[in-house]
Amino acid sequence: MSEALANLLNETRQFPPPAELAADANVTADAYAEAEADRLAFWERQAARLAWTKQWDQVLDWSRPPFAKWFVGGQLNVAYNCLDRHVEAGRGDKVAIHWEGEPGDSRTITYADLHRMTCQAANALTDLGVTAGDRVAIYLPMIPEAAVAMLACARIGATHSVVFGGFSADALTNRIQDASAKVVITADGGYRRGKPSALKPTVDEAVANCPSVEHVLVVRRTGEDVGWSERDHWWHETVEQAPAEHTAQSFDSEHPLFILYTSGTTARPKGILHTTGGYLTQAAYTSYAVFDLKPDSDVYWCTADIGWVTGHSYIVYGPLSNGATQVMYEGTPDTPHKGRFWEIVDRYRVTILYTAPTLIRTMMKWGEEIPAEYNLSSLRLLGSVGEPINPEAWMWYRQHVGHGELPIVDTWWQTETGSMMISPLPGVTAAKPGSAMTPLPGVVADVVDDQGQSVPNGGGGYLVLREPWPSMLRTIWGDDNRFIETYWSRFGAGASGDANDPWIYFAGDGAKKDDDGHVWLLGRVDDVMLVSGHNISTTEVESALVSHPSVAEAAVVGATDPTTGQAIVAFAIPRGSTEISGEAGEQLIAELRNHVAKTLGPIAKPRQIMLVPELPKTRSGKIMRRLLRDVAENRSLGDVTTLQDSSVMDLIASGMSGGK
Ligand code: ATP
Ligand code: MG
Repeated sequence: MSEALANLLNETRQFPPPAELAADANVTADAYAEAEADRLAFWERQAARLAWTKQWDQVLDWSRPPFAKWFVGGQLNVAYNCLDRHVEAGRGDKVAIHWEGEPGDSRTITYADLHRMTCQAANALTDLGVTAGDRVAIYLPMIPEAAVAMLACARIGATHSVVFGGFSADALTNRIQDASAKVVITADGGYRRGKPSALKPTVDEAVANCPSVEHVLVVRRTGEDVGWSERDHWWHETVEQAPAEHTAQSFDSEHPLFILYTSGTTARPKGILHTTGGYLTQAAYTSYAVFDLKPDSDVYWCTADIGWVTGHSYIVYGPLSNGATQVMYEGTPDTPHKGRFWEIVDRYRVTILYTAPTLIRTMMKWGEEIPAEYNLSSLRLLGSVGEPINPEAWMWYRQHVGHGELPIVDTWWQTETGSMMISPLPGVTAAKPGSAMTPLPGVVADVVDDQGQSVPNGGGGYLVLREPWPSMLRTIWGDDNRFIETYWSRFGAGASGDANDPWIYFAGDGAKKDDDGHVWLLGRVDDVMLVSGHNISTTEVESALVSHPSVAEAAVVGATDPTTGQAIVAFAIPRGSTEISGEAGEQLIAELRNHVAKTLGPIAKPRQIMLVPELPKTRSGKIMRRLLRDVAENRSLGDVTTLQDSSVMDLIASGMSGGK
């Protein structure tokens, strides 16, 4: 391996928390000291925020690393913690979900409603023969039944595997087969970009190749005609007719709660397994701490889809275990108009908004006039997740959504980590635009060099986690070897074979520590570029491009180069009104190359910049640089099955020949 990451970007702006928020924050700076003094006691106190029917005997069993057990011997029911206990505490009338369909229909669902719906679904699943430990695949649009289906599985101890509703029949087949799911829960369809988008035909096609599937449960959402067979059951004829009483049984803290496949940005998706007690503990604690969630006054909205881990931890399990009120939205941000998100914030008086950099950059491209048309004064806290957020996107978010003063929590975590790991605390941290700042209390993260040595402040390298955490993945479903190979064999005991070395989790992301020791994510290790012997981060070059007023979004890759080893090739989407035809385009490209060289240094000057209308993204909105690398090196494209829109690659190819 070559030298660790070069550290190029120098961002010095810093924004302390608003005094009012800090004065009333759920979590103060003491939490860091408490966790530092005794990490396991700290997590034990967070676990005690949940209702357990049997107390654990041991906080952490790490005797067989890297296979962890948390809250060993404890028992609880996840759905009870998310629903029953709020209803029993007299909060049944409180709104759990303000649901908004894409066409504009809406539903208000209280905790008592959600509890009843979940009990009915639990009874119906039991009638279909589902028992604890069985796997249930969930392939639904963003409708309340998606949350109900997950909670019903949790309630009866079935392990859910949610598959994003935009995935193809092949992707669905692979995931159903990998987990041998017994039941699939789906809908006739959902609304997408102003029209019904069918799901049931995809399930029919998938299930034809999945002998494990005995039943398919179908929610009626669009009312379109669907094919029908003996294994199909309508939700409204089964679940909605089932008894509303159901007593939740407790499960072991390590009982499998769900399998979720990673989004496939880098490789074949991995079936990440999460279990019960530790997962819920950290999902609940981080919702409370990082969002400063106040169940009595906040209206929270996470714009992710339930098909991603963000939807699991920060739509279903985190907010509901805290008894929060939230908004859930079915559709796309530009249907029927580009102000849709802001209209929803305004309508429900949303106080906390959690979204992704890809959406913020899209909003930047559309222009700040759009959010300016709405009343966003209810907002008090903003969050970001999914990719590094470029400093200019961070500033835009604060300025045009956050009235120039709201704290932004940039939360680093992964499907594998289950919950947030590195993030500012909104009442404590003076955040820097583009930095995830510091590991949360109870989390031990570090940046190391090729040898696994901690880098000094100012240095760059690989992000690792040095200690197990409650919501960590327990394995890759059915593939312990791939689990060890992927995460535990790069550094520490898994690399050296020396049992005296600590076990170190390799996250797969590049990172740096700035002069104050704050953490900056630099993109995936697979994407790092090696230019004239220097490892250069894609994120930093992209952020430099986005800091130019004509650029809304950029992706950067390293392409083979005879002189420098790799050379930087950039793809940039111009902002709305930018003139790019002919001469003007050439001029802009020259200006952008110089702008990057000036911002980051000559080593980072792109060899080539292409102005493109779109970038290839996964269905969760992350840029897929490996495909752009194929373009830059004139290779045929690799696996495109997790791509959101495969026509984007044609667009880029045609845009390139014209624009160059
Ligand atoms: P695959 O592992 O299959 O390639 P994926 O990594 O995209 O897919 P996820 O688990 O959804 O699947 O994404 C986690 C990754 O997203 C992180 O490893 C990191 O690269 C990126 N990420 C998430 N949040 C942030 C953040 N706040 N800052 C920087 N990067 C982030
Ligand atoms: Mg990953």
